[in-house]
Amino acid sequence: MLYLALVLLIFALFFFRRSSTQWKEAGLPGGRIIYSDTRGWGKVEKPLFYTALGLAGKPDYLVRQNGRIIPVEVKSGRAPEAPYDSHIYQLAAYCLLVEKTYNNRPPYGIIHYENRDFAIDYTRELENTLIDLLVEMKQDEHKKNVPRSHEMAERCAKCGYRKICDQSLA
Ligand code: SF4
Repeated sequence: MLYLALVLLIFALFFFRRSSTQWKEAGLPGGRIIYSDTRGWGKVEKPLFYTALGLAGKPDYLVRQNGRIIPVEVKSGRAPEAPYDSHIYQLAAYCLLVEKTYNNRPPYGIIHYENRDFAIDYTRELENTLIDLLVEMKQDEHKKNVPRSHEMAERCAKCGYRKICDQSLA
């Protein structure tokens, strides 16, 4: 549970630290709407680890399809028009963890919203962007001050770290 919380925290931080322009520049895959048969989904009991990058986390489900293992992340609420960037990166981290744990690279992962499922291709480009971000976050971990990356008061107003953040605009 602690590890899962850590992964979620990491991606919450990514999301708030990066401006949306930077996300667009990263060329994230938009996601394909797919139909999923949930009967084949298997609950994941234990977290997966990749110690080289200090990454740990537990996807909600794993689906075995034609020798591949596909991670599924379940989100509450109705689907946005396209998956949120933070959800895409979280799923990409699960794809990385599946590949490192089972030595079996998922071609894509699934984000399951209440009313719609999106398949997100786990491309080399997405993997590289994810690894760059993880490395950058690890470097920032030891810095006393990490400058705010945006000027959006409304973003700070919704931020869970607002009360302890000395750079909050709200
Ligand atoms: S309060 Fe604002 S500056 Fe501080 S972490 Fe949250 S979004 Fe970033």
